Amino acid sequence: ADRAVARTIERVCAVIPDYPEPGVVFRDLTPLFANGAAFRETIDALLQQFEGSYDVIAGVEARGFLLASAAAYAAGVGVMPVRKQGKLPRDTYAESYQLEYGTATLEIHRDDVPAGSRVLILDDVLATGGTLAATTRLMERAELSVAGIGVVMELDGLGGRETLRGQRVSALYTA
Ligand code: AMP
Repeated sequence: ADRAVARTIERVCAVIPDYPEPGVVFRDLTPLFANGAAFRETIDALLQQFEGSYDVIAGVEARGFLLASAAAYAAGVGVMPVRKQGKLPRDTYAESYQLEYGTATLEIHRDDVPAGSRVLILDDVLATGGTLAATTRLMERAELSVAGIGVVMELDGLGGRETLRGQRVSALYTA
């Protein structure tokens, strides 16, 4: 099953050289989201890796929202949006991380999910791991435990795994 979903991802996703800037090979998952069979196979495979280990599913804005909401619905659990700065109206925790130029900040509401809950974090692509590391710090601030991190695609050689040391990370496809 693991090999089958990896083949599906390889077949369906688009690869765009030099986007958004020269030297970057962009992995576009929108064709996978648009393909009903491939999308379902991907969601089912992500959930299977972490069966029974979580109480709620978090998705990172914006592509992670698509994965997390579908997965949460299928699993019958709630969904938690990890948002870019300035979008959430009540008290938040905020964590910043380095981008190539400058920094970015992610936020969660403080009290949407009860302390002690186990959170499965989903996102589309693991690159340097900065985004997902900041997300795990947010969960710690909220006294939530990270059950695991699931991504559709992991980009090798960018240090993402090392950035997330100590976490259970599962990628359906490595490029
Ligand atoms: P990072 O924090 O470096 O792990 O990457 C953060 C986000 O940038 C990921 O959630 C992806 O959505 C996006 N991203 C980074 N590199 C790529 C890439 N080569 N292709 C597609 N998306 C990417």
